Amino acid sequence: MKKNIQAHSSVLELIGNTPLIELQKITKGMKGSFYAKVEAFNPGHSSKDRIALYILEQAEKKGILKPGDTIIETTSGNTGFSIAMVSIIKGYKCILAVSSKSSKDKIDMLRTMGAEVYVCPAHVPADDSRSYYEVAKRLHQETKGSVYINQYFNELNIEAHYHTTGKEIWEQTNGQITHLVACSGTGGTISGIGRYLKEQNPEVKILGIDAYGSVLQKFHETKEFDKDEIYPYRIEGLGKNLIPSATDFDVIDSFTKVTDENSAHTAREIAKTEGLFVGYTSGAAMQGIKQMSEEGVFDKDSIVVVIFPDHGSRYMSKIYSDEWMSQQGFFDSVNQESNAISYI
Ligand code: PMP
Repeated sequence: MKKNIQAHSSVLELIGNTPLIELQKITKGMKGSFYAKVEAFNPGHSSKDRIALYILEQAEKKGILKPGDTIIETTSGNTGFSIAMVSIIKGYKCILAVSSKSSKDKIDMLRTMGAEVYVCPAHVPADDSRSYYEVAKRLHQETKGSVYINQYFNELNIEAHYHTTGKEIWEQTNGQITHLVACSGTGGTISGIGRYLKEQNPEVKILGIDAYGSVLQKFHETKEFDKDEIYPYRIEGLGKNLIPSATDFDVIDSFTKVTDENSAHTAREIAKTEGLFVGYTSGAAMQGIKQMSEEGVFDKDSIVVVIFPDHGSRYMSKIYSDEWMSQQGFFDSVNQESNAISYI
C-alpha cells in the first residue's frame, strides 16, 4: 500500500508560483530594491506555461475542448513548447505552424514534445495562403473540435497573467511593489500583471520594455501606427510590427527601448553576477532598468519587480555563444568573451 508519497500528479501542478529573487549585485549603485520574478522555474522554463494552461482550461470549462481534440498555434518559441507540454498531459493533439526561419533545434524540441509541426515559408506576406497565419487559420477551420490559441489577439492571454502572475507579485511583495518592469511582446504579461496591480494600488508604475525596430512605444505615446519604426532586430519575444489586442496600453505608464547589443551583454552579466541563467529578454528588461535608473525613475524607497520570462538554455547558439556575439559585432574587447576553455 502506498502511503504519504510526496509527489505531484503531473508536471502541470508545477506551473506558476515562481520565486521572486532579490537582485543584489547587478543593481549595485542603483537607488531602490530590485526583485526578479524568475519564470524559468515553470516546468516548461517560461512564463508561457501559464497562458497555455489557463487558455486550455477555460476552453474545457466552456465545453469547447474534450480529450482528443486539437490545439493550434503559430509559434516555434516558448508558447509552442508550453502548449505541446500541456497538450500531452491533457490528451490533446497539438499542431504548430512555424516559420521556416525557426531553427532545427526548436522544431526537433517541439516534435519531441509530441507536436505536429508545419514549416511555412518565412518570406511571404501574412495574407499568402502559405504563411503560418493562413495555414493555422485553415487547419483550424478544417479541424472539428480545434482551438486556435492566437496569443496576440486573445484576451485570455491577459486574464492568465491577471489571475496568476499579478496576484503572486502583489502577495510576494506584501503589497509594497512600487514599479513593475516587463518586456512586451503579445503584451499579455505586462497587461495582466499591470491590470491586477493597478486595481490593488493605482500608484504602482507599469513600465514596459520595447525593442528598437518595434512600433509599441510610439503607438503608446501617439496612438499612431508608424511603419517607419519597423526594422529588423535580433531579440525574440520582445516588441512587435503590429498592434496586438492582447496589449492593454491603458495600464502601461511608459515604454523604454533597448538595443540588441546592450540586452545581450546584460543577460550575460545577470549570469555572471547573480548566478541566474536567463534568456535574451531578461537581459533586455534588466537593461531597461539600468537606463531608467540613470534617468532617475527610481528612488531609495522604490520596490521594483522585473519579469525574467525564460531560461538561458534556449539561447545557447545566440547570446551565450561567443562566435555569435562576434558575428553580430557585439564584442569590442576580448574581455567581454566568456572564460577560455582549458584542454587537458
Ligand atoms: N520574453 C520572451 C522570451 C517571450 O517569448 C515573450 C513572449 N512573446 C515575452 C518576453 C513577452 O511576453 P508577452 O508576450 O506576454 O508580452
